[in-house]
Amino acid sequence: MELNDKTAFYKVCFDSMQVGIVVFDQNKKIVLANIPASKLFGFKKNKFLGRKIDDFVKEKYLIDKFIQSPSKKEFKSTQEITGYSEKGNELFLELSFGEMKYEGHIYFKALISDITERKLKEAKISHLNVQLEKEVKVSNEELKKVIAQLKSSLSKEIELNKLKTKFIAMASHEFKTPLSAILSSTELMAKYSELDNVEKRDEHLQKVKGLIARLNGMLDDMLKLENVESSIIEPRYRWFYLNEIILKLTQLLNPFLKKNQFIKIENEIRFEIFQDPEILNIVITNLLNNAIKYSGEASTILLRIEQFEKHLEITVKDSGIGIPSNEKHLIFQRFFRAKNVLYSSGTGIGLNIVKGYVESLNGTIYFESEENVGTTFTVILPNMINNEKESFIN
Ligand code: ADP
Repeated sequence: MELNDKTAFYKVCFDSMQVGIVVFDQNKKIVLANIPASKLFGFKKNKFLGRKIDDFVKEKYLIDKFIQSPSKKEFKSTQEITGYSEKGNELFLELSFGEMKYEGHIYFKALISDITERKLKEAKISHLNVQLEKEVKVSNEELKKVIAQLKSSLSKEIELNKLKTKFIAMASHEFKTPLSAILSSTELMAKYSELDNVEKRDEHLQKVKGLIARLNGMLDDMLKLENVESSIIEPRYRWFYLNEIILKLTQLLNPFLKKNQFIKIENEIRFEIFQDPEILNIVITNLLNNAIKYSGEASTILLRIEQFEKHLEITVKDSGIGIPSNEKHLIFQRFFRAKNVLYSSGTGIGLNIVKGYVESLNGTIYFESEENVGTTFTVILPNMINNEKESFIN
């Protein structure tokens, strides 16, 4: 085929290119642009011509740089720039520059592709990546937390199991000792009955009673432990005279006092208080029991009860063996017994029960202790009702 009108042929080729082509002079004026270039910038072709190329480019310095030294290495490869459409919208463009001569004049050409869609996709992907990274980080953190929680509950479980085993050994021992004592006392009682030695027989009868009370107490403690563990303590508040309870419980504790050991009671309250008498009984009995066990003969244990405007305060002070400083933080833990008491009887559940009961009354318990000097436990119970019902006992 013979091409008669080559100019028309070139023009068709020029306008059917896949990329936009813009030719500009040294003054940056656009002298030629193909249809794809005009379309790309949103122009009708005739309006595009004559305008300055850098009106449509954000990185204007790049055009100047290219005009000054077009053979620079950086212009051998494509450049990514931001362009502006006729309406002022931002476009992401890929440019490759070139230089040419025509009738003694130098012209510059730019091959332009619109990469806006690609760029938006890339931005979206990188945003998704950031999101994903964040989510992975969060789930990693959560995973770490769950693992830490599992580890800690596992080690708690292991620790608890060890303590339970220790407790079973201790409890069996605790039951065995009074049971054998009861057995030998009853044998002796039978013997003294035969001999008609009433005094000796009664002495052993009292001993048996005391031992049975101790066994009973231990069983009670175990049942209470169950309540504390399953948090089913429901306080039953009522009006009562605290000193009546104190009198009863100290009488029950009398058989356990050591030689010349006694309990001094400081209780100024002569009116009825509104609390749970059963719980107060358990708390005070336990604290006094420990004070008796862990202090020596000829020592005084102080039980002080004080009613303040907003709370009731119970203090049990002994001058006994005290609690070793490095074990103080473990004292309220179930089954825990300090190193310095291992020779004496006990199961390590009393204080755990006391704490559970005190907390069921919204109260707090704390202690101060020094080894070989003594220990003071303080229980603070908020008043449930203002003690308006002041009725004094004569
Ligand atoms: P236990 O049956 O061993 O007495 P508790 O739960 O009542 O159990 O007490 C836990 C531990 O707290 C005791 O084994 C002992 O080490 C320490 N403890 C409690 N009260 C006293 C006290 N008054 N003096 C010294 N140590 C005490």
